[in-house]
Amino acid sequence: MATLGNPTNTIEVLQKYNFNFQKKYGQNFLVDANIIQKIVDAAGVGREDCVLEIGPGIGTMTQFLCEHAREVVAVEIDKKLIPILKQDTLSSYQNITIINEDILKVDINAIAQEKNGGKPIKVVANLPYYITTPIIMGLFESHVPLDSITVMVQKEVAARMQVGPGTKDYGALSLAVQYYAKPEVMMTVPAGCFIPRPNVDSAVIRLTCYDNPPVEVMDEKLMFDIIRASFNQRRKTLVNGLCNAAGLNIRKEEIGAALEGMGLSPTIRGEALTLGEFAKLTDLLIGGRQR
Ligand code: SAM
Repeated sequence: MATLGNPTNTIEVLQKYNFNFQKKYGQNFLVDANIIQKIVDAAGVGREDCVLEIGPGIGTMTQFLCEHAREVVAVEIDKKLIPILKQDTLSSYQNITIINEDILKVDINAIAQEKNGGKPIKVVANLPYYITTPIIMGLFESHVPLDSITVMVQKEVAARMQVGPGTKDYGALSLAVQYYAKPEVMMTVPAGCFIPRPNVDSAVIRLTCYDNPPVEVMDEKLMFDIIRASFNQRRKTLVNGLCNAAGLNIRKEEIGAALEGMGLSPTIRGEALTLGEFAKLTDLLIGGRQR
């Protein structure tokens, strides 16, 4: 079994199996043991933990995870990687389960139930960048028991998850992430740490999941519909953005009255509202609907 975490051994495995990178799967493999160890440390992976790794590739970070965790489940979409993982790079570990599937189709709740008795799991991954947002939102919205999500993402996406109102990066992703978790950018990672080198800068972000969201709202789904509608039409005022939004069916006067009730300007834009203010606005609009 090859010990991975440097370019030489990765290239050797790739050549041995005549592996060709699939661009459509966002394959950029980590070849820096130091960075991988830092990711595992940032995730705080320990002997009690059950870890879900999304996209193990040839199993480089998976080896580190298997060394530190009690149980690791790795979900990989590319069937060409499965024999490499099973017969070679992960063959000597007893605490690994390899699943050949699209992560967006896997029942992660069932995995958490089977492997961790329904207790919160840790997600650790160098994510395929083409589906970063669907993966993270899918994890949150399906209410998988989660301790934390520690992932490598595009640097700009990490910034978007962390910022607050009044910045250009602030948007629906920031609000969704901050409703479910506390985001912390842990490090930036140079392109030279991957084979092949990605065209974008990368960063590792840790999302520590809340037991209870930091704000209370009567209708979570309506709040996220309102948030999405506000940012879909970013340059419009909140009032115009919301009353134009298909499916929301909220009248202009109701939105105006709700903003007034919150002491906000009638010409305010969505990008100026905090998560707490979106929650309050949602509750007021529900109240308006019920009258
Ligand atoms: N973890 C490895 C590493 O760091 O060297 C590989 C990371 S690479 C950026 C992303 C991995 O995710 C690839 O192995 C790719 O095949 C896999 N992948 C892409 N889309 C996927 C999906 N929908 N479900 C599961 N795995 C996926």
